[in-house]
Amino acid sequence: LETYRRKRDFDRTREPRGATRQRSGSGPPSFVIQKHAARRLHYDFRLEVDGVLVSWAVPKGPPLEPGAKALAVQTEDHPLEYGAFEGVIPKGEYGGGTVMLWDRGTWEAEGDPRRGLAEGKLSFRLSGERLRGRWTLVRTGGDDSAGNWLLIKRSDAERSRIGRGEERSVASGRTMEEIAAEA
Ligand code: MN
Repeated sequence: LETYRRKRDFDRTREPRGATRQRSGSGPPSFVIQKHAARRLHYDFRLEVDGVLVSWAVPKGPPLEPGAKALAVQTEDHPLEYGAFEGVIPKGEYGGGTVMLWDRGTWEAEGDPRRGLAEGKLSFRLSGERLRGRWTLVRTGGDDSAGNWLLIKRSDAERSRIGRGEERSVASGRTMEEIAAEA
């Protein structure tokens, strides 16, 4: 989490400093998706692995149609506590802008997630309040694409629950505008 902490001034932002790498609980690991209106709007997709949230920024949001793909740029690991963060990062600070908890739940890797991350191919099932079903993350090749992955929706029998209310937080029911107003 050194990179996470180095990028932030915790006297200025209310983001959690985070404990050191935590021991995961006994239940299935968590995932969270945060809608983040930074300089560019994106969705931060975070999977709990070994006590941290391994993270990707997905500019277009997670794909929902089987076979659909979205660019996912890996970012620094975040502390587990970040999975409960919703609020406003002050302007001028790293990632300044509004953060909404857009989805949360548990995930299940197909195979060993550490090996999947190391080898650049991670398949999993999400059981979220909104997203349900199977996706695969694949690291793309090339030296200039460091950190670039594709998030690919696979076909399955499950249906995500997207539709009315999608513009509201799963945690607080607030819109981005209502969260921004707290600042
Ligand atoms: Mn972000």
